Amino acid sequence: LRKKTPEAQQLAEQIIAGNKTALSRGITFIESQQAKHQYIAAQLIEYCLPKANKSIRIGITGVPGVGKSTFIEAFGNLLITQDKKVAVLAVDPTSSVTKGSILGDKTRMETLVKEQDAFIRPSASGETLGGVARKTRESIILCEAAGFDHILIETVGVGQSETAVHSMTDFFLLLKLAGAGDELQGIKRGIIEMADAIIINKADGDNQKKAAQAKSEFQRALHLYPTKNTGWTPQVALCSALENTGIDNVYELILSYLDLTKENGYFEQKRRDQNKFWLLQTIEEHLKRNFYQHPDIKKELPLQLQLIEEGKTTPFVAATFLLKLKDN
Ligand code: GDP
Repeated sequence: LRKKTPEAQQLAEQIIAGNKTALSRGITFIESQQAKHQYIAAQLIEYCLPKANKSIRIGITGVPGVGKSTFIEAFGNLLITQDKKVAVLAVDPTSSVTKGSILGDKTRMETLVKEQDAFIRPSASGETLGGVARKTRESIILCEAAGFDHILIETVGVGQSETAVHSMTDFFLLLKLAGAGDELQGIKRGIIEMADAIIINKADGDNQKKAAQAKSEFQRALHLYPTKNTGWTPQVALCSALENTGIDNVYELILSYLDLTKENGYFEQKRRDQNKFWLLQTIEEHLKRNFYQHPDIKKELPLQLQLIEEGKTTPFVAATFLLKLKDN
């Protein structure tokens, strides 16, 4: 067992007492690459785990500009009026490339950020998807231990990040726009399959008619997919995050989903499956890191790649050589 340090214990106690500054510091330890910080982070997670798991985790995805942060602000404020405590996290492996980190811009979610019962944390940057996802998952534990009972996890609708967010949340919301010309074609099949609800945002002003049309198109399209093993049929709904309409309906949808899946046992089963998935993910990540960071591999890999370039070896021979090298 890990030796406990007083620093970690004190910080964990502050987190469990609901101190948001302590929670921020804790997540900074989780995000740090330094070995001594990772040591503290591991202890924090151990302290916090028994206090965690009591939340509803909601994933929110959609292309940039669809209104994710406006929606989260409206939805978060609604939850707070219902005496809930809301933490907002993000999985955004693209932020290091584009520098336009989601949640990074402090002017977003202006009213939510001021709420005592809200905690907003930008995505860790400069990381691989695997790294960001693991850190977000660990951050969820600290947020739950700090008493946040609704965890909203935002991700951009590009790449593989939706899969990662789907695998750490109970309910997955896909935000869409009407009339973007991509109603059914442009949307990635996998995302529709993951979504528990498709919410068409910006259903306001001149856009309302198009939004209603898009809603029926999505409903028709969803009928083509087999029923999920949750027993839940994915729902399509309209909202305007800007005008704050339809947001309460989204919450009601989520509540009916929770009623159903807690009743039929799927809620707990899904969390257990997710834990198994993350165990395997963690092992994979660890093995890969150990392999690529091994000094012999760092030295030999470029040489082997060069030999392939020159047609002097085959991928299989080179791989066998490198794998053996690491084992020695
Ligand atoms: P994100 O990139 O998905 O987080 O999108 P934002 O929340 O930053 O919103 C992008 C733009 O769309 C902003 O200018 C918002 O004010 C606007 N917007 C967001 N929600 C709505 C809505 O429901 N109706 C309208 N008309 N505009 C919205």
